[in-house]
Amino acid sequence: MENNKNSSKEILDLSYLDNEFIRVKQLQTKIKFYICEISWPHPHKPKKNWKKIKEIDASASDEVVKFKINQIIKDKQFFLSCSKCLRVLPLGLMHGDAYCYECAENHLGIIY
Ligand SMILES: [Zn+2]
Repeated sequence: MENNKNSSKEILDLSYLDNEFIRVKQLQTKIKFYICEISWPHPHKPKKNWKKIKEIDASASDEVVKFKINQIIKDKQFFLSCSKCLRVLPLGLMHGDAYCYECAENHLGIIY
């Protein structure tokens, strides 16, 4: 019998996604999906808040997990992609639905 105590809160490696705003935790009975919501309590100081948005049974295959991640990334409730830098970002980092804050500053001359 393997000792699984240390893996009960394991965060899956999603570095291939190049999206730091999504996390998946593999727990003993569930796989839980989190997204990072960004709010701006102070200008230039974004606040991150990890929110669980989905969970599935821990027996799900890697394909299913990848499929769910893909669904989340494509869900416009959570993420939009910037038409300039093409990054996929949480809504809190977007200026409208076409530009992210950075590109809005750099290309539209909008100052935050
Ligand atoms: Zn951008």
